[in-house]
Amino acid sequence: MHFEDFFKQELEGLREAGNYRVFADLERHRGSFPRATRHTENGTEEVTVWCSNDYLGMGQHPDTLAAMHEALEKCGAGAGGTRNISGTNHYHVMLEQELADLHHKEAALLMTSGYVANWAALGTLAARMPNAMILSDADNHASMIEGIRHSRAPKSIWKHNNVEDLARKLADADPEAPKIVAFESVYSMDGDIAPIAEICDVAEQYGAMTYLDEVHAVGLYGPRGGGIAEREGLMDRLTVIQGTLGKAYGVMGGYITGSRNLIDFVRSFASGFIFSTALPPALAAGAAASVKYLKQSDFERQRQRRNVRLLRDKLDALGVPHMRNESHIVPVLVGDAKKCKFISDLLLNNYNIYVQPINYPTVPEGTERLRITPSPLHNEAEIDHLVSALSELWSQCALARAVA
Ligand SMILES: *Cc1c(COP(=O)(O)O)cnc(C)c1O
Repeated sequence: MHFEDFFKQELEGLREAGNYRVFADLERHRGSFPRATRHTENGTEEVTVWCSNDYLGMGQHPDTLAAMHEALEKCGAGAGGTRNISGTNHYHVMLEQELADLHHKEAALLMTSGYVANWAALGTLAARMPNAMILSDADNHASMIEGIRHSRAPKSIWKHNNVEDLARKLADADPEAPKIVAFESVYSMDGDIAPIAEICDVAEQYGAMTYLDEVHAVGLYGPRGGGIAEREGLMDRLTVIQGTLGKAYGVMGGYITGSRNLIDFVRSFASGFIFSTALPPALAAGAAASVKYLKQSDFERQRQRRNVRLLRDKLDALGVPHMRNESHIVPVLVGDAKKCKFISDLLLNNYNIYVQPINYPTVPEGTERLRITPSPLHNEAEIDHLVSALSELWSQCALARAVA
């Protein structure tokens, strides 16, 4: 095989489909979230970021930064090893306590990312429990799918957020097999929310354990930022609650929480946890400060909700169609990969607005979209600028308007 030609051809295919990914080269500004400097071949430009998963701007919060500075000064840069071999720092231990408390669980286990947490935890649980099977929501994140695949356990995919289908699949399964029902609370591309209580009802009926990914909900929902399960008073019904420290908490890292024995089991058997260097102490310190702060402050959550409402109202007033949902995610549907990228490019180049196009394979073909995530720190003038820019581009691309 001529390797170079093969790579080039494959990339050409992506470009032709409009699915080739181009990274915006940004430099975020501490203290002025959501603004950033964009580096281009022709120099630099100031842009407003409208698609960050640092949903509340906690990556810039004084508490987070102060904790990181302090830990950096005290401990230096890296952790120095895997958790088992000299890498466990006191900051990791404190963060795990903070996380167990957040979800009212006995224990928590920190991993290097939310992706690794899902991959390692689901992979280990499903592989190590004899005859285990997984019942996975059809829209589950790639990290869960890869963990399930890696486990080689049999899997059954139930229709997205469809409890009747889940119940049917549980009824059809071998009654003796240990079962894991894996799903998310807030689905990040459509912004819809799982019926957690109903899912727990059927899972309990069939003796299945539940594994909930709250990546897009931790920090954002519930009186202490414990996620949708906290908001709905359901945390104790979930066997495992998984989350990230890289999105609303603004830092990096992932984790699972659960019973002491389950967490100890994953700690003791998960290759993706055991054989990888621990997160730097400064990251753990920053994440712990962020989690702690959002346990007692509701201000950011309320401001974010206000901005989400404002944006939706203003989009409605001009007929720019967006998907209805109960979350903080505002998906503006374009429905065509090339147009989606075109609009995103024009927003960036002509309006200094950065919203990444979301195309296949992240979302199904024909549902390409701009995924907008208003933060507490966007101001009303920025919302107005975004909405009028979208409205102008809607006309320019002859896209259909929503009727009020
Ligand atoms: C982003 C994401 C993850 C992975 O979390 P990271 O900390 O970014 O690795 C897991 N699950 C879902 C649903 C996600 O969107």
